[in-house]
Amino acid sequence: MVHFVGAGPGGPDLITLRGARLLSEADCVIYAGSLVNPALLALTKEGASIYNSAQMTLEQVLAVIGEMERSGKTTVRLHTGDPCLYGAIQEQMDQLDELGIPWDVTPGVSSFCGAAAAVGTEYTLPGVSQSVIITRMAGRTPVPERESIASLAAHGATMVIFLSAGMLEGLSTELLKGAYTPDTPAALVYKATWPEEKVVRCTVGTLAQAGREHQISKTALVLVGDFLSHSYQRSLLYHPGFSTEFRQGDGSLDGAAL
Ligand code: SAH
Repeated sequence: MVHFVGAGPGGPDLITLRGARLLSEADCVIYAGSLVNPALLALTKEGASIYNSAQMTLEQVLAVIGEMERSGKTTVRLHTGDPCLYGAIQEQMDQLDELGIPWDVTPGVSSFCGAAAAVGTEYTLPGVSQSVIITRMAGRTPVPERESIASLAAHGATMVIFLSAGMLEGLSTELLKGAYTPDTPAALVYKATWPEEKVVRCTVGTLAQAGREHQISKTALVLVGDFLSHSYQRSLLYHPGFSTEFRQGDGSLDGAAL
């Protein structure tokens, strides 16, 4: 059996209870060494075989899993953040299906949640944005043309951009082709929830300069949007005039939709 486990964004106590239990029971752990905090390996049991997948191909990962499986052992495949984002787990799950090896997935706290916590902000503010666009610049992994940054930026919604901290100049140019202006607030969040976490607030126009000044070119997220400006409408949900299934309001806002 293989358990895909989300390791969380970095802080070793941000793995889920289920993830920690699976990690402590596993006979073999294959972790994504470039971003998983190695402090998590302290949870593994004595004698567990540990592999860093940063130095392995998909074939090698599958070979290790296959060998474990043949001797009735359990493997945890530990991915950074939540495995469903840029985790390259689909190809592993599909191959395991072909090999008849059972697997399941334990979610984790994605770095985009860790970044909001680091900045101390909410992505979905009434009157500002109710959508979060998670995307990346095209790198060696291509991005379909219909999902170009420029086209997604047309919405002016909250954007969280992964895997692009090394391309801030180009990112800024693409964002400006959409609904953002050079003054739209932005933030670079480096290693959110790690001890060396850095939050750099800037604007869409000064992204590249901020990256240079603070030497951030990898392991960072770029946050973009007016949610960073702290100007918004208060929520209806907690407004005294708003009635919900759970709370009777004073009637002044009856009929308003959430
Ligand atoms: N599955 C992961 C993302 C893996 S892709 C998740 O859910 O977070 C790797 C990219 O994620 C990095 O290049 C960086 O853009 C981002 N990333 C991962 N951990 C991060 C962290 N702690 N702080 C900021 N960005 C992070």
